[in-house]
Amino acid sequence: MESNILVIYTGGTIGMIKDPVTGALAPFNFDALYKHIPVLQNFNCKIDSYCFDPLIDSSNMNPEFWVRLAGVIEENYESYDGFVVLHGTDTMAYTASVLSFMLENLNKPVVFTGSQLPMGVLRTDGRENFINAIEIAGAYIDETPVVPEVSICFENRLMRGNRTNKFNAEHFNAFLSGNYPLLAQVGVHIRYSHQHILKPNFKKLKVHRNLDTNVAILKLFPGITENVVKSILSISGLKALILETYGAGNAPTDKWFVNALSDGIKNGITIFNVTQCKGGSVEMGKYETSVQLESIGVVGGYDITTESAIGKIMYLLGEGYTGEKLKQLLQTPLRGELTIE
Ligand code: ASP
Repeated sequence: MESNILVIYTGGTIGMIKDPVTGALAPFNFDALYKHIPVLQNFNCKIDSYCFDPLIDSSNMNPEFWVRLAGVIEENYESYDGFVVLHGTDTMAYTASVLSFMLENLNKPVVFTGSQLPMGVLRTDGRENFINAIEIAGAYIDETPVVPEVSICFENRLMRGNRTNKFNAEHFNAFLSGNYPLLAQVGVHIRYSHQHILKPNFKKLKVHRNLDTNVAILKLFPGITENVVKSILSISGLKALILETYGAGNAPTDKWFVNALSDGIKNGITIFNVTQCKGGSVEMGKYETSVQLESIGVVGGYDITTESAIGKIMYLLGEGYTGEKLKQLLQTPLRGELTIE
């Protein structure tokens, strides 16, 4: 079948050129980007484009933009078989993660890609990434999309979006899916791991637009002071805190530390325990250094990434969940974002 693909261009290195005056990379428009890959015309699919104005470096990404992006997908959902989102790599993992929560009952491919080198550069990785993303977004078997979820296609690998993080600022192989297998590997053939890809549920797409940003992230480090911990927990309006812990979810056992967290929880702040490690899972209670976290009511995040945790919390708070229900949903895989052993 001939697929209809909508390419949504948000900005990022893939479409940037050097400003002749400052020498800094700045976005340029989509038509110029498209010109660099005339081979796209040979694909067995029809490609349209939607270009954000202004284009942004993804370091300027924010929830308002996420809502607009989800809106573009919703408005065009019935008219296209798949979507390719061209996005800067810096916050791509955050956007792919939050979009996976905002787009409930997604039954079509939304493939994010970008590049480390701009399209105009001879050795660009953007060309390959773009072509692969188009092919994956348009892949159907018997009228059913092969990858009906939010994914990231980068350097010949397809990953579940909400399992990724950007781990390298220089290599073409810039994204990691530390806790979930690849959805596909691109070589001579595109080899899909069908058993790891979410199945379509054929329900109507529901777009969630309320994202609550009363959240914070606290990354632990040896030497962290009581002042820092207490200051974060006393932020006015704070509803949830992602606590980036060591290893399998461990934290200092100092009395002041545990008391500060405990007071925060008593004041209604949900504390979500996410590991600083790129692979492996939080297991509260495994070490003495996490027993107290468990007993004061810190919520274990299993193997969720920080990027996914922040998106999931904004989404759940935005939907109005609090207390026990919030805790329960945080520990339930909603879009394949965590593994419960
Ligand atoms: N700063 C750029 C961005 O994230 C980097 C990139 O696209 O790779 O928009």
